[in-house]
Amino acid sequence: MPVNIQPALVARNLYFHFGKQPVIRQVSLELYPGEVLAIVGESGSGKSTLLNLFYGTLSPTQGAIQASTPDLGLRPVSALSRQTLRHLQRTAWGFVCQNPRDALRMEISAGGNIVERRMIMGLRHYGQLREEALYWLQKVEVDPTRLDDLPETFSGGMLQRLQIARTLISQPALLYLDEPTSGLDVSVQAALLDLLRKLVIAENMAVVLVTHDLAVARLLAQRIAVMRQGEIIEEGLADQVLDDPQHPYTQLLVSSVL
Ligand code: ADP
Ligand code: MG
Repeated sequence: MPVNIQPALVARNLYFHFGKQPVIRQVSLELYPGEVLAIVGESGSGKSTLLNLFYGTLSPTQGAIQASTPDLGLRPVSALSRQTLRHLQRTAWGFVCQNPRDALRMEISAGGNIVERRMIMGLRHYGQLREEALYWLQKVEVDPTRLDDLPETFSGGMLQRLQIARTLISQPALLYLDEPTSGLDVSVQAALLDLLRKLVIAENMAVVLVTHDLAVARLLAQRIAVMRQGEIIEEGLADQVLDDPQHPYTQLLVSSVL
């Protein structure tokens, strides 16, 4: 990466404990605009916890996180006021979780879910909101005639597309994806990965993708960090890590899926 480009995310020597249990240990990384970094590791290795630290929903026990903001450049996440944090989470940063039902409002329409943040941020013009919702339904390749349908009537894959549209509408500079395709059937996963790849390449976002699935990491990421028991034990270009892993644990992970 050229030195004159500012990173979108910097983590320095992070530690996080749940009670006495160390969950994140000595994690440092940098992420630049336009990059997709996959964090791979087994269930329980601390991947979701790390994303929640980046997004500001958890605070590190030790260490510092700086994330890009539209007006002030890199800012320390833990020094932000509650209100500023909330604002940035709705505008500059996006989070897509594994289960879309945890993020969507099941009692409002598909279109309403997509533009909800717009309404929270003060946009009230009904016709314009409808146009935006339609535009984003098309972007995530959902039938636009479903605009007024309730989420209940959508399949799991389609719900995930709604969550993605709802997140991307604010054009976040930083996007966190927590196992975005894990809950889905294999054929639905493939289509969604294809869509994510298109969307991520089109925007100049910095993306942290968390997955236990090395194939997902290979499809979307340029860089891969391998987590074991809260530590990043290997990090590098995706092809290097997957084709020529250096750490014995990564070798084991890679060989177990071949
Ligand atoms: P992953 O996403 O890689 O599966 P998590 O970040 O969810 O891992 O969990 C890492 C570790 O933290 C696990 O040992 C898990 O049991 C523990 N953990 C996660 N959430 C909590 C919580 N709310 N309270 C206590 N321990 C938790
Ligand atoms: Mg997880």
